[in-house]
Amino acid sequence: MTARPVLVLNAGSSSLKYAVVRPDTGETLLGEHLERLGTDDVGAALDRLVARLAAAGIAADDLAAVGHRVVHGGDRFVAPTLVDDAVLDGLEALVPLAPLHNPPAIAGVRHALAAYPGLPQVAVFDTAYFADLPAAAATYALDREVTARLSVRRYGMHGISHEHVAGRAAAFLGRPVEELDQVVLHLGNGASAAAISGGRPVETSMGLTPLEGLVMGTRGGDVDPGVLLHLLRVGGLSVADLDDLLHHRSGLQGLSGRQDFRDLLAAVDGGDADAALAYEVCCHRLRKYVGAYLAVLGGADVVTFTAGIGENVPRVRADVLAGLEQLGIHLDATRNQVRGGPARISADDSAVTVLVVPTDEELSIARQVVALVGVSRP
Ligand code: ADP
Repeated sequence: MTARPVLVLNAGSSSLKYAVVRPDTGETLLGEHLERLGTDDVGAALDRLVARLAAAGIAADDLAAVGHRVVHGGDRFVAPTLVDDAVLDGLEALVPLAPLHNPPAIAGVRHALAAYPGLPQVAVFDTAYFADLPAAAATYALDREVTARLSVRRYGMHGISHEHVAGRAAAFLGRPVEELDQVVLHLGNGASAAAISGGRPVETSMGLTPLEGLVMGTRGGDVDPGVLLHLLRVGGLSVADLDDLLHHRSGLQGLSGRQDFRDLLAAVDGGDADAALAYEVCCHRLRKYVGAYLAVLGGADVVTFTAGIGENVPRVRADVLAGLEQLGIHLDATRNQVRGGPARISADDSAVTVLVVPTDEELSIARQVVALVGVSRP
């Protein structure tokens, strides 16, 4: 019997990715990535996706389930979860923790419930992989009463990708994931790093929200919290202004006016000084995290690059890891020209193996969904 495919929805703050995926073979039967959507467009995009599936002859009965990527599961959701009314209420209650990211996912769930009422709907959480992060890594050194009352801790995101890529890296090396200490660098529009020891994450760069850590397309990552107080007190920014600054006018966008890495590289090559600085800040931040995570792990077996930038930009990989021979990292310039992967890009004499491994969040979600609901239904 061939496994029924899973419809995977990944509704972001301004984009919708969907894919009909066969969990057994990994084959994508149909998929689309709609970008730069306004809040109202997400509903229209969901209507279009239902129509497109119908036009392709894919009916509800042909599907095993619908899987939804939900960015924030908070303390409550740490495993793939079958959605019912109580779960929907739980997702709504988490909106304050991820005001930009969770509402479109909830809209996707409601839409899919209406369009495919007989199908199991499963929420898969991007925070779940990090649920057991060691307390030393998960805890902000702030007043405990305040953090407990408001559920303030480091949750971590991109867990679906980090887990998938760490598993694929181990498989590529023919080693059990339990035996490896790994650093995974997920570098897309959003970006995060994870330190993974024996298959369990022990540190990651995103925190309560996806704003912490690396320099991203429109988010700046780490910043002295005193800067925010200064902007509120002296700069006269409102909370809404600050929110807009941190989510949309920072990172590569804030430094150079370009959020897309391809545009950034074109500007760097054209001699644009702002773009050059943005590129340097981005690579410098990454180097700091690689160094920190090597220390957290006590040395790593593998460092892996993934997602749009990690898979496609040899120059970033070379600039981030240049001069780290003392730490056991030695890239091979020719191997490093690879795009996509999986491939080894370190030299044979490198103590740390450096890989490029493509991520596939949709396939990972599809597999987690069928692990919960199975592929056949009554
Ligand atoms: P997300 O899933 O978070 O939207 P992706 O993983 O698709 O992000 O990565 C998007 C980023 O990758 C963009 O900044 C894009 O410019 C960059 N990117 C993708 N392909 C290339 C490429 N060939 N060269 C340079 N940058 C690329």
